[in-house]
Amino acid sequence: MPRSINRRKFLRNGSQAVAGGVCIGSVLPVNTSIPEAPASAVDYYQKLGVTPFINAAGTYTILSASTMPDQVQAAISAAAQKPVHLMELHKAAGEYLAKRLRCEGALVTSGAAAGIKLATAACMTRGNKSAIINIPTEMQGLKNEVIVQKAHHYDYDHAIRDCGARFVDVETLDEYERAFTERTVMTQFFNAAEGGRISREDWVRVAHKHGVPCFNDAAADVPPISNLWNYTEMGFDLVAFSGGKGIRGPQCTGLLLGKKELIEAAQLNNSPYSNTIGRGMKVGKEEIVGLVAAVDWFLAQDDAAMEAEYRKRAALIAERVQSVPSVEARVFIPPVANHVPHLMITYDMNRIKLSAIEVMQRMREGTPRIELNPSTGGGPASAGLAGGSNVIVVGVWMLQPGEDQIVASRLREVLSEGAK
Ligand SMILES: *Cc1c(COP(=O)(O)O)cnc(C)c1O
Repeated sequence: MPRSINRRKFLRNGSQAVAGGVCIGSVLPVNTSIPEAPASAVDYYQKLGVTPFINAAGTYTILSASTMPDQVQAAISAAAQKPVHLMELHKAAGEYLAKRLRCEGALVTSGAAAGIKLATAACMTRGNKSAIINIPTEMQGLKNEVIVQKAHHYDYDHAIRDCGARFVDVETLDEYERAFTERTVMTQFFNAAEGGRISREDWVRVAHKHGVPCFNDAAADVPPISNLWNYTEMGFDLVAFSGGKGIRGPQCTGLLLGKKELIEAAQLNNSPYSNTIGRGMKVGKEEIVGLVAAVDWFLAQDDAAMEAEYRKRAALIAERVQSVPSVEARVFIPPVANHVPHLMITYDMNRIKLSAIEVMQRMREGTPRIELNPSTGGGPASAGLAGGSNVIVVGVWMLQPGEDQIVASRLREVLSEGAK
């Protein structure tokens, strides 16, 4: 019997064999460590019948955000093979990240949304161990007011309310000054908000005047790479980033950066500690190592080189589609979130008898599947990306090598069909 078959049989029957004291095959005594068979990955997308697509959208959570660079995948695969003490790994990763990202403390979270929740929990429970168990329902004696600009309410408010906090809304700097009470526990800032009259600097200054920590959600706001330290250096006490967007780590990771004391308080509210608000937001060794490796990868990139590459892809697609009558294309860089070149394509709907939404559907249903940016056709736009019924937005930054050609050809084909 060839050795490989023997080994497979052994692995299949291993536990019973050991329990029964049976030794399978004279060449493989049970107490010998078995070399791993080389992994030949099963394509589970294929097995499950889920068809991947070319990502001409960007880092949208529902589209599974980014893909990880090879070196990040390799680091995860290596880490997955060995057990470690999770708290030792959390602590070491936090110290490493804090040093590299120029802040006092860092915590790997299960996403930016988890970072928002842990930031709130940290502010509510610091120096008060019983509060960790008591939030969000047993709030006697706990401060629970979070001040926010009215224009900064958004889809992640729930992460703050989960901790038992309630919002106090302000619009002007004067209202902000007067909103602080003895129950104020944190102030919240949405970094990529399109509205809001109070600047980051004023937001931080006034909070600190009242001795209240200031949180900033910058989840989707890299590149530029320096944003990983710009906001902590500006004075924000806690800042959250998504690990699976521009940083290109595992999708279910995030970074919480900031003051050492608050990061430690956030950690106490997090998994693996049980009976905490964060126990359901576990990050495993694979995610922790994956995010650290992704930060290493990201810090080795160059903003100008990344922008040049994205502009090149956009130019290639623009050139190809502009041969269709009435089509115009230009590069657009959103101001804060997703701050990279996108291609905006517009056309005369009298000449091309398809709405942008119809173009998006045809791209999605074609072979290969292609997902355009969700702000196409006036869909739910990410900050700064204008949409309209004849506006197609191509996010080029998550394309793999060669996919710009495929997107260009397919888009030209679909637009040409509409022009017939
Ligand atoms: C994506 C995003 C989040 C959530 O990030 P996750 O890492 O998916 O949890 C939170 N806030 C903003 C502004 C985002 O763009």
